[in-house]
Amino acid sequence: MLTMTAESPTTEKTVLITPYGGSLIDLMVADAERAELRAYANTLPSIRISERAACDLELLATGGFSPLDRFMSEADHQSVIDTMRLANGYLFPIPVPLPVDEEEVAKIKIGRDIALRSSSNELLAIMNVEEVYRWNVDEVSLKAFGTLDLRHPIVSEMNSWGKYNISGPMRVLQLPPRYDFKSLRFTPAETRAQLEQFGHKNVIAFQTRNPLHRVHEELTKRATVEKDGVLLLHPSVGMTKPGDVDHFTRVRTYKALAQRYYDPDRILLSLLPLAMRMGGPREALWHAIIRRNHGANHLIVGRDHAGPGNDSNGQPFYGPYDAQEMVENFSEELGVDAVPFQKLVYLPEEDRYEEVTKVTKETKTASISGTQVREQYLQNGRQLPEWFTRPEVAEILAETYPPRYRQGVCVWFTGLHNAGKSTTANVLTTLLQEFGRNVTLLDGDVVRTHFSEGLGFSKEDRNDHVRRIGFVASEITRHGGIAVCAAVSPYRATRNEVRNTIGSDNYIEIFVDTPLEICEQRDTKGLYARARRGEIQGFTGIDDPYEPPQHPEIIIDTLTHTPEENARKVLNMLIEQGFVRTEAPDLRAN
Ligand code: ADP
Ligand code: ADP
Repeated sequence: MLTMTAESPTTEKTVLITPYGGSLIDLMVADAERAELRAYANTLPSIRISERAACDLELLATGGFSPLDRFMSEADHQSVIDTMRLANGYLFPIPVPLPVDEEEVAKIKIGRDIALRSSSNELLAIMNVEEVYRWNVDEVSLKAFGTLDLRHPIVSEMNSWGKYNISGPMRVLQLPPRYDFKSLRFTPAETRAQLEQFGHKNVIAFQTRNPLHRVHEELTKRATVEKDGVLLLHPSVGMTKPGDVDHFTRVRTYKALAQRYYDPDRILLSLLPLAMRMGGPREALWHAIIRRNHGANHLIVGRDHAGPGNDSNGQPFYGPYDAQEMVENFSEELGVDAVPFQKLVYLPEEDRYEEVTKVTKETKTASISGTQVREQYLQNGRQLPEWFTRPEVAEILAETYPPRYRQGVCVWFTGLHNAGKSTTANVLTTLLQEFGRNVTLLDGDVVRTHFSEGLGFSKEDRNDHVRRIGFVASEITRHGGIAVCAAVSPYRATRNEVRNTIGSDNYIEIFVDTPLEICEQRDTKGLYARARRGEIQGFTGIDDPYEPPQHPEIIIDTLTHTPEENARKVLNMLIEQGFVRTEAPDLRAN
């Protein structure tokens, strides 16, 4: 249990700020007990927890959330959303619940132990369930996050959580296993031990969920100099805002920067398995508590810290400097100072960065937004300028976000049997290779002889067939290839499913709009005739529906145009969209 009183003996010797509440919570079972408890846990009913809850469990277990030592009880949960404090009075602005649904509640008995497993079924902890309570999603959304708007990522996510929370003391058998960047992952105790070696009392933490550009480098360096301390570069790598750059890419940029552009005696790069809520000001204060537990007594808080983006009216959920204000208001009580920054901008004429409030209106400034980075630079294969991003970082981003002509795309032909899908798709496949693209043709008829072998023509089988082609196409596109697919794919819903797995930006649907009478006249394999005679059942167009696409990217007409003309029409669209480059690369440009 946590104690409100003085520091623990282990932290007294250090020069660093003590953990919040005096000592780090540690829920890990001792090595000697582990095997026995594991065997015991395997006899218990278990529930699988979400990726988010697993991140929370990790920070509870290692003391990142000290003095909180469990998923929140009803009293803590209520107090946190109402007052930003735990029931015992410690500041804690963000709810950390363990939600379960009704089915799981049925397995749980108050006073009994339950095993908690990760989503991939790894045994993580044993909880002695003390409480099961209902919670109200709208109340939490409004009180903790200030909105009911489903554009807020956590509000939208919370709506799918179980309606009950459970709480009780936990014995943690293992942290969620992580295999990536192991040498950069440190628990709060390990982080403290490392920081102590630097010999500075001041530790300035920098939280981030984005690739770091020159502005970030500038503000972290300024803060470190100003406070004469060591920088704890502490990116969140648990869950961040949906759509963010993946953490693999981000961490590669952090490593490159930390190695090359910072004084090694003044920086510690450590990854934080935090599942962010994008809760703006409340989240900023939470970040300060978590960083204190890792040994930091300063937190850099810039513009729109942990901001969730805009609401459904296009307005920001929180004011751009609300987060700074919040951390400043509590900095004395918490012992963590906010190092505030106004928005930094680049002054091209002086080749330096400055806070926007410190430059006159006449001064020329430059900045590039995240959207511009993607749309104007990465998508076109343009290198980001050096004033904006270090070349090592630009290179890593360029690898992750190749220009369109190196991105994958799926070209999906749909239409009746004999409409002309295969014929056109074959011509297109050849043309694309002329322009140096790697293409795989997935022809429904051919696929039915290998990975769809054994599937028939019932609705379920047809859907399976389409989904299998879709799966392979999505892997091809994910790896930068072009998948040309030709399949009747008669049902709209299944086609849309495939579009969604691949993503609309890299998906082109082509409706081969040949009237049934014409297809029937073509009857290359005599199938229409057999269907008419009733020898084949469930034949699309005869006794099974074909649902034409409502918004195909292209409609082709095989009566007025030849297969080659139609294939070129598709090729032209691919060229227009940048997926195919017609000119030889100009190497002199670099
Ligand atoms: P987060 O969502 O946690 O705020 P970011 O990676 O976007 O993650 O930002 C990390 C920190 O850097 C935040 O404190 C943010 O306010 C600050 N920051 C980002 N861009 C700027 C900028 N151009 N000027 C000043 N501060 C910034
Ligand atoms: P699907 O793949 O849609 O079942 P196929 O391409 O296998 O159709 O068959 C279409 C038949 O129609 C072929 O025999 C093809 O030669 C003939 N055909 C006639 N005109 C065209 C055209 N303009 N485009 C495509 N196919 C055509």
